[in-house]
Amino acid sequence: MSDNSLRLVWIYPDLLSTYGDQGNALVVERRARQRGLDVARLDVRSDQPIPTSGDIYLIGGGEDRPQRLAAERLRRDGGLYRAVENGAIVFSVCAGYQILGHEFVNDLGQREPGLGLIDVVSVRGEGERCVGDVLADVDPQLGLPQLTGFENHQGVTHLGPTARAFAQVKIGKGNGTGDGTEGAYNGTVFGTYMHGPVLARNPQIADLLLKLALDVNALPPIDDRWYEALRNERIAAAQQPA
Ligand code: GLN
Repeated sequence: MSDNSLRLVWIYPDLLSTYGDQGNALVVERRARQRGLDVARLDVRSDQPIPTSGDIYLIGGGEDRPQRLAAERLRRDGGLYRAVENGAIVFSVCAGYQILGHEFVNDLGQREPGLGLIDVVSVRGEGERCVGDVLADVDPQLGLPQLTGFENHQGVTHLGPTARAFAQVKIGKGNGTGDGTEGAYNGTVFGTYMHGPVLARNPQIADLLLKLALDVNALPPIDDRWYEALRNERIAAAQQPA
């Protein structure tokens, strides 16, 4: 953070924005402004370089081919590695999450290298695609309420020894490994399978990213009654028998 200005980078909206991922950028931006911060938001298309001096980076979900193209370009660009070395916070969803791991299976059925910023490996699941509502309890170290989301993925993600599970599913498949884990993180690089967009449904995650960026333990509260109503509605919907 420089002065009172937050640099928010949304990576590759042209490739990884299949699931309303712009909502995640809007929520971080708005909640930062509500706390009196200036926000410089940069939407970086896949033919543009990734800036290395951002505070928070967001990467969304996508279909298999754009996911491969995004991984190739991010590897070639190298900027996100440098940003993380500089202490940046990264929040990734689904295809973005798989790209931040060591590898995933691409649209050609081949093992595609990721960026290795989260200690996970994704494979193609043999079973049915994981589709549906998710309720998940977050790693207690992160101090967040129960999350709601919606997942839609074929990939199954295995955590390596240094990754921590982001959450444990109460409803839904999460990483799809059968152990109940959902998403993963290493340091300040986070990944989840939850869409929604997930920060619109769980603004407390956006606040976590802001707290990490500002290096503070608390933020001024915001009237979140609308979000709470949405949360309660989605919890009730997720608990309906299919
Ligand atoms: N293509 C990946 C999968 O199916 C990611 C999908 C997504 O981003 N929703 O696992």
